[in-house]
Amino acid sequence: MPTDIEIARAVPLRPMPEIAAKLEIPEDALIPYGCDKAKIDAAFIAGLNGRENGHLILVTAISPTPAGEGKTTTTVGLGDGLSRLGKRAAICIREASLGPNFGMKGGAAGGGHAQIVPMEAMNLHFTGDFHAITSAHNLLAAMIDNHIYWGNSLEIDERRVTWKRVVDMNDRALRDIVVSLGGVKNGFPRQSGFDITVASEVMACLCLSRDLTELEDRLSRIIVAYRRDRSPVTCADIGAQGAMVVLLKDALQPNLVQTLEGTPAFVHGGPFANIAHGCNSVIATQTALKLADYVVTEAGFGADLGAEKFFDIKCRKAGLAPSAAVLVATVRALKMNGGVAKSDLGAENVAAVQKGCANLDRHIANTKAFGVPVVVAINHFTTDTEAEIEAIRQAARAQGVEAVLCTHWAEGGAGTLELAQKVANLCEGPSSFAPLYPDEMGLFDKIDTIARRIYHAGEVIADKTIRAQLREYEAAGYGDLPICMAKTQYSFSSDPQLLGAPEGHTLPIREVRLSAGAGFVVVICGEIMTMPGLPRHPAAEKIGLDGDGQITGLF
Ligand code: ADP
Ligand code: MG
Repeated sequence: MPTDIEIARAVPLRPMPEIAAKLEIPEDALIPYGCDKAKIDAAFIAGLNGRENGHLILVTAISPTPAGEGKTTTTVGLGDGLSRLGKRAAICIREASLGPNFGMKGGAAGGGHAQIVPMEAMNLHFTGDFHAITSAHNLLAAMIDNHIYWGNSLEIDERRVTWKRVVDMNDRALRDIVVSLGGVKNGFPRQSGFDITVASEVMACLCLSRDLTELEDRLSRIIVAYRRDRSPVTCADIGAQGAMVVLLKDALQPNLVQTLEGTPAFVHGGPFANIAHGCNSVIATQTALKLADYVVTEAGFGADLGAEKFFDIKCRKAGLAPSAAVLVATVRALKMNGGVAKSDLGAENVAAVQKGCANLDRHIANTKAFGVPVVVAINHFTTDTEAEIEAIRQAARAQGVEAVLCTHWAEGGAGTLELAQKVANLCEGPSSFAPLYPDEMGLFDKIDTIARRIYHAGEVIADKTIRAQLREYEAAGYGDLPICMAKTQYSFSSDPQLLGAPEGHTLPIREVRLSAGAGFVVVICGEIMTMPGLPRHPAAEKIGLDGDGQITGLF
């Protein structure tokens, strides 16, 4: 079997105007970045206002395991399947972070014969959006320290500067650092640190903004520090939002590329899926919905986190109403949820698949609870047996939904024709999307609602200081914000070892943070890493260029 990059290189790319023409995007609305990537002009996007939306289809998954589920691969495969049925389809996914590329081998453009190309570009610098976000974020950081240096008229408590710096790299040495060392001329030493760029609130702001005006408003509201009396200091107090939006002007325009089969793909934005909402930009999704009849998009992690945040944060804020959801399941991941170790996945084990289907059942019920019709996509691995696949079909049927075997990884869009037809049928049927909780519900009650209804927790544990903090947010006018849960993706509980479908567990809240610019309250349950590290032997050790200037070792 050829590698992902070998498959990708073997397919000639179509010129961008041809891809754009599939969505009736005129050539003068394309801002080319080389000949195989283009941004879509903001003025053209503004002109689409008032057009009717196509159908929005969310691809989500069962609880992830190290065995892999293939959400992106299925998103791409389904987009290609819809195209093959003659539908006007587009795909919307996130951009890739550089950090993980050099840590663990593997890209973010799908896999096998269901990939977005040019995959090397998409996984590396692409159109520079993340670099722009890094620069905008760090400009604000520099201006904060500069403000303190020149007399600190805002009376920022130097111990309470919450705005760190960011870099798009896995670098644990920068997690906790001291800045402004070196004496009087360098300012006031204080502890700080770096996060990875995708964890920046600037990223979340960009991904939730419909235009530059909204982006500037969001940036203005970011809280960067507190005073001694605990009153917040914002980005607007520092006066950085204008310059930041200048740095982000091009980055807000969505990127258009293509799949191996020539389906238009918007690849734009990439917020972390834990302390942020984990899906591509609102502006890309809305643009795609105005131009295509079917827009297939992906949310990070399993449905308990990814789909919940997609519905409760992105769809709520952008006024989007998904027509259908595709729940990706694999025999391998269900076996692991059924208690099988990764090393034993090779052997047929129907009983373990059946046991693991408790996890699938829960995700089906949860997704339906948002009023969105569901179909299960069984992402086929060559080791799956017919009896194991049948076990998933039966489990889904018992929940009143269909499970369709998909072979897009091996066969491209030809392997998702049945899924594509089922999805198209679901889109014609009724959908009654509604978020899980109303804006006006109290913040703690929102957390409690997610914990009980989605995670099936018995109780939420939060000490007095956390409850008091939530009440302070409410008093300060942030009570109507949605919740952004930051929890392990491996379990419905906060314990990554508790696979399957645990019931009645307790959900301990460790910390709450206000992302006032992005517009959500982050609720942290367990350890959440906002600056990853590299493994003992990072993939970077094996990456290089061959004699022809081709990248080796990256994918
Ligand atoms: P996710 O979006 O859920 O994180 P991806 O679609 O990125 O997952 O897939 C993760 C990895 O698994 C990729 O390297 C991809 O090539 C591989 N993969 C996905 N589906 C299959 C499959 N059916 N068979 C073999 N490998 C697969
Ligand atoms: Mg993915």
